Amino acid sequence: MSQSKTNIQNGSCPVYKKCGGCQLQNLSYPEQLQFKQRKVEKLLKGFGKTEPILGMKNPYHYRNKVQAAFRTDRNGKIYSGVYQSGTHRIVSIDSCQIEDRLADEIIVAVRKLLPSFHLTTYNEDTRKGFLRHVLVKRGFATNEVMLVLVTGTPVFPSKNNFVKAIRRQFPQITTVVQNINPYATNLVLGERQSVLYGKGYIEDVLCGCRFRISPKSFYQINPVQTEVLYGKAIEFAGLKGDETVLDAYCGIGTIGMIAARHGAGRVVGVELNGEAVRDAIQNAKANALKNIRFYKGDAGDFMQAVAEENEKIDVVMMDPPRAGSSEEFLDALMKLSPKTVVYVSCNPETLARDLQYLRQNSGYRVQKIQPVDMFPHTQHIECVVKLSIQ
Ligand code: SAH
Repeated sequence: MSQSKTNIQNGSCPVYKKCGGCQLQNLSYPEQLQFKQRKVEKLLKGFGKTEPILGMKNPYHYRNKVQAAFRTDRNGKIYSGVYQSGTHRIVSIDSCQIEDRLADEIIVAVRKLLPSFHLTTYNEDTRKGFLRHVLVKRGFATNEVMLVLVTGTPVFPSKNNFVKAIRRQFPQITTVVQNINPYATNLVLGERQSVLYGKGYIEDVLCGCRFRISPKSFYQINPVQTEVLYGKAIEFAGLKGDETVLDAYCGIGTIGMIAARHGAGRVVGVELNGEAVRDAIQNAKANALKNIRFYKGDAGDFMQAVAEENEKIDVVMMDPPRAGSSEEFLDALMKLSPKTVVYVSCNPETLARDLQYLRQNSGYRVQKIQPVDMFPHTQHIECVVKLSIQ
């Protein structure tokens, strides 16, 4: 057993309590899976049988997106790490057992380069200083790496030399972006950004489709398990070849594009984040998929408009954020009455609430409940549920 496995299984990560990210690391991995299985069974027991959770073979270093905050102490020493849970105090971290190793190494290297470039770190109290956060995204299948430097001010002295210096150490970095976030906010990324090197995005491959990922677009953080999750979602959709599929909360279009690849006749995607929609449109082109359209907007509003136009939709695949869906969306869903609904959820509590609403107000009944462990060592649980109309 590797060192990292021993550490995490003993719950002995040095910052276990302070970081708060891996809430379940005091349990062995099989115990974690059992814990998640029981939780889903308890929350969804009135709806049907829960299939055994699909766990990871090697549940370490799975995160393809890593971010760090920065601070400088009174002696001028610079630290990088994560916020202590519920606070804005930074817990110093150089490596983490669930994060990509290369991403962690890049963050440490950025920190070490700062003094020689006379670059300061941002102070949230005084709202002065330069570097606020570093975000690294990596395409596991393509090995492309994006480095995003989030700065409090737009002026970046010697930026070209800084990019050269970091790329000399990590030639794997294929693009560098400066994102400017001057606001008093908890959000990591600001609105403005400029590409300092490369294309400004990375690409990755999932289920045979190639995806463009921009700094602000949502992309699943565990690509190994994402293939398992999407595989189940496609299986539950039961596509025969001519269906119209609506991919709601579609992000960069992953689920819809994979459905198109698996024979859907026509796919319509809707997503709130403009950058993600632009990625989705590019992704459809790059994969030569002509039968797919993406729209920017609120999924609930969009569904209502589609329902009012009496469009025929055969399958709705929905993947809302943790807050779940809205009654507006679910009302429109019932009006559209697709024969199959595939609900991908990252929060079983809001999933249970939404399933309850559907059961009370329509003939939709749960056919399958499949939990997938997308976030080993953390308390987060992903599920995919198949519903059909009775
Ligand atoms: N299906 C995608 C993304 C899922 S994450 C994938 O698997 O990669 C949820 C997505 O919902 C995010 O991209 C977020 O920007 C989007 N979103 C959040 N609220 C929304 C709303 N009200 N309407 C449409 N999209 C929304």
